[in-house]
Amino acid sequence: MKRFLDSFRIMLGGEPRRPGKDDFTPEARELHAYKRRPEVAKKRIAMIREEQENPVLVIKWRVRRWISIIIINLLFVVSFWYDVQLIEGALTASRVVGFHMADVNAALQVVLAYKVLVLNLLIGIVTVTIMWWIVGGRSFCAWCCPYHLLAEFAEELHLWLAKKGLVKDHPLHRGTRSVLYVIFVLLALVTGYTVFETISPVGILSRALIYGAGVSLLWVAVLLLIEIFYTRRFWCRYICPIGLTYGFVGKTSPVVVQYNLNHCLHEGKCIDVCLVPHVIDMTRKGRADDVIINVSADCTRCGRCVEECPTGALTFKIRGTGGLL
Ligand code: SF4
Ligand code: SF4
Repeated sequence: MKRFLDSFRIMLGGEPRRPGKDDFTPEARELHAYKRRPEVAKKRIAMIREEQENPVLVIKWRVRRWISIIIINLLFVVSFWYDVQLIEGALTASRVVGFHMADVNAALQVVLAYKVLVLNLLIGIVTVTIMWWIVGGRSFCAWCCPYHLLAEFAEELHLWLAKKGLVKDHPLHRGTRSVLYVIFVLLALVTGYTVFETISPVGILSRALIYGAGVSLLWVAVLLLIEIFYTRRFWCRYICPIGLTYGFVGKTSPVVVQYNLNHCLHEGKCIDVCLVPHVIDMTRKGRADDVIINVSADCTRCGRCVEECPTGALTFKIRGTGGLL
């Protein structure tokens, strides 16, 4: 229960806490002590060196996600242009083989703005909530959101420029997203207008793909420029309330990314690539209070850490079963 509540605190902007002396399970305490032995530490450092000298590029999960994002978004485009009535609408609200679907955050904005909840919208919210709950975490972000795909390439560019010393990351406080969440809720309630939807790059891109480019794409370009030259993953890390909404939706999902302290070398490659590194703080040396820990609510299930981890310390799992993939 403590871990469950703590994961919400961290998702809302709190910093991960270093576990106290009494927080460790006996197994975790024993394992940390074992890893501190000089001969074991020496072996661990040698393994990290070996791994750094012979890096292996794995992009299995990235390719799967990119295909998923492209196919989902293309389905709407093809359906509109060729009048295939299997899918109608856009990412924010659609009908798929007769089933109403609604982006949970967009639906919340609509309900607050118009102060009415029509049956089709309710069906859409429930369907989408169940769907994203099953796959868990913020899978919507990593597996469906068109902005995520662009932002990933912007991030690569940012990291490349940073390596050359041409740009520097300017992180914001993660709590900014929670404050903005409340502001967008209040704005919808008070103005009777879905303010967030007008500036959301998710809706803008989805509509642009389906109905054609508009001037609002300039806003998406501005966001990407900020991400390349000023703040790494500016929108998804610090602004977008959609991520927060799906973080709540997928918290108790059966699909998780699971951490195993036994296999971890603590070299930090996973933290370097993660959009939300606060969720894998336990991979830092001495931080895991248990041997097996499920990664918490804000995880997008992107699989980057799974790809990067050379020893399989992070893997996709279905709760209560063996490995997933
Ligand atoms: S945080 Fe928002 S923009 Fe970023 S991937 Fe998630 S839904 Fe898309
Ligand atoms: S913990 Fe792993 S799967 Fe989750 S967001 Fe970070 S890199 Fe992606």
